[in-house]
This record gives sequence, C-alpha cells and structure tokens, in this order.
Amino acid sequence: MRILVTGGCGFIGSNLVRYLLSKGHEVLNVDKLTYAGSEESLAGVSDHQGYRFSQTDIVDRDSIELLFSEFQPEAVMHLAAESHVDRSIDGPAEFIRTNVEGTFSMLETARKYLNSAPLELKERFRFLHVSTDEVYGSLGPEDPAFSETTPYDPHSPYSASKASSDHLVRAWFDTYGLPVVITNCSNNYGPYQFPEKLIPVVILKALKGESIPVYGKGENIRDWLYVQDHVRALELVVAKGKPGRTYNIGGNNEQRNIDLVREICRLLDELTPREGAGSYSEQIEFVTDRPGHDLRYAIDAERIKNELGWEPRENNESGMRKTVEWYLSNLDWCESVLGGEVEKREVR
Ligand code: NAD
Repeated sequence: MRILVTGGCGFIGSNLVRYLLSKGHEVLNVDKLTYAGSEESLAGVSDHQGYRFSQTDIVDRDSIELLFSEFQPEAVMHLAAESHVDRSIDGPAEFIRTNVEGTFSMLETARKYLNSAPLELKERFRFLHVSTDEVYGSLGPEDPAFSETTPYDPHSPYSASKASSDHLVRAWFDTYGLPVVITNCSNNYGPYQFPEKLIPVVILKALKGESIPVYGKGENIRDWLYVQDHVRALELVVAKGKPGRTYNIGGNNEQRNIDLVREICRLLDELTPREGAGSYSEQIEFVTDRPGHDLRYAIDAERIKNELGWEPRENNESGMRKTVEWYLSNLDWCESVLGGEVEKREVR
C-alpha cells in the first residue's frame, strides 16, 4: 500500500515506518519535527527507495493537500500529536492545536481527496487514527478493563484533546462516510521513546547516578504494550479493520509504576552493575503526585483478537529486557535527541 504516516519521526511512528517498509509498503512520512521528533530515529531507512519524508505541520492544510495530491495515498496512519501529559498540564495550547486542529485538517484533506478519487480507491482507502486508552478515564482496582464501548471520561488536557480528536474522526465517518478506523492503545514502551517518558527517564537517571523520580507512592497502574506488538496491530487494522470501528490494543501487562521501576533497576543491576555497590533501586525517590493523576488503566483487547487475530507476543520480562538493552546500546541516540550529555556505560 501507499501509506501516508503522520508523526513518523516520533516514538511509535519511527517504529511503524520501519515496520511498514520491511513489509514492502511505500511510506510518505509527514512530520513537523517538534522536540519529540527526530530524523535520527529513522537513520538507515531514510535512503530506502519506498520512503519519502516531508517536514510539514499537519495544521497547514494547503501543504497537506499538496502532499495528498502528489503521493496519492491508499491509506493514512495518523499518529502526529503532542503526547506528554506533564507538558499538557504546563501548556495545553499546543495540544489543542496539533491534536484537535491537526486532526481536523487531516480529516478534511482526506475527505476532499476521496471526493474526487476513483471508486476503486474510495473502496480501499482507510484513515487510521491512533489514540489512547487515557480517553476512557481512570479505573478502580477491581473495575473491568476498558472496552471499545466504555464511555469517554478524560481528565488531563492531553487526554481531553485526544478524546476530542476521536469524536471528530467518528463524526467524519457518521456524517461524510469517510472510511475511518480508530485504535486506542495502552502505554507503549520500547526503542526510540523520547527520554522524557517514564521508562527512558528511569534508565538514564539510574545511569547518571541521579535520583529516580516516582510520582506519589508509585501505585498507579498502567498496561504496558511493547511498541513492536503495537505497530504489528496497526498494520493489521489498516489492512483489515472495519470502517467506523474502534479497536483497543493492550499488552495484557498491568503493573504498578513502582514495580515497573524496580524491574528496570533489577535489569540494570544485571546488565551494567553500579560502580561501588548496591542496587540502582536505592536511587528511587517518591515525588509529589501529578494533578488529576489517573489511578489505573487496563485494556480489554478481545475485539482485535477475535476479529483480526492479533495478540501481543512480548510479555513484560521479554519486552523490558529488550528495551533496557536497546537504551544501553543507544546512549548516543539519547544524547543526540536530548541535545545533551548522557554518561556512557559498558553493557554486560
Ligand atoms: P511522540 O511524541 O513520540 O511523537 C509525536 C510525533 O508527532 C513527533 O515526531 C512530532 O514531531 C510529530 N508532531 C507533533 N506535532 C506535529 C504537527 N503539528 N505536525 C506534524 N507532526 C507533528 O508520540 P508517540 O508516543 O509516538 O505517540 C504517537 C501517537 O500515539 C500519538 O497520537 C499518541 O497520542 C498515541 N499514543 C501514544 C502512546 C504512548 O505510550 N506513547 C499511548 C497511546 C497512544
């Protein structure tokens, strides 16, 4: 397929672009290159013959229309977003601009493009919108996991902006018949995650000998999805998903933050023991909780399993080991995207 990917220089996007190219798809990656996007995350694929890149803001509709008419996509996989909850609390405006206005711009462009497209393309075309489990709000310890019919109840500016974009996408299906599919996934982890999110922050702080910050008492529970499992699911949904349908994607891997952080410390103790003595877990420090911090997210991923045959392949143990090993071998990438120094450590 000829696939226009937005946000392909970000964490999930760069893993997705690599995967799509490996499966023989043609990709046009449209990314504004904010602080969270880096062409270095696609080093080695940038000269692939099926790959093109355009540094473009998705809100800039004229430029997006031009890219559609030149590339003639058979599918759009829309990932570009502002994605960090803490940043959304400090400055929500950019979240409304990119996540809401940007999605509107993508939907309108796709609608206009399909209006004048041949019938055969209209029938095949899919607009996949990648969203989050955070739109469903927070669960109590014993509540059933989020399903595709759980009512929306977002609490942060980030999740509210993603919920707004999901509503727009659904409206474009109901009102204009745009062949959309929506995915709501849990927390991703794996290679190329910008080092401001929990897992890379823990690894880098541990290596630098700094305190490892954990919100509250670390009792918030998240479901963790290995990014390679996620991108495999996204390709399946864009190829076989039913227009108008939502698919929840989860890792069957619920963990308290504190247990996750201790597991990372344990892996670091094994792979690159601390100089001197002791465990990296001695560096853990509990810090004041984030306002509106949701207690628990959990995903019921039965629909995508039953309808499309997808299941995660990694469990926490295997996925986390791959992730820690990747960061230890790619400290140069961390240094480059952060624009600063990261202490180099020998990996054992
Ligand atoms: P990310 O922050 O790592 O990357 C976002 C990318 O979008 C960056 O490359 C950035 O440059 C680009 N971008 C931002 N604003 C843009 C704009 N106006 N125009 C064009 N490009 C722009 O995000 P991610 O973690 O890879 O997440 C990708 C998608 O998946 C997002 O929509 C996010 O809401 C969703 N999601 C992520 C997670 C997760 O755990 N990372 C979980 C659930 C859902």
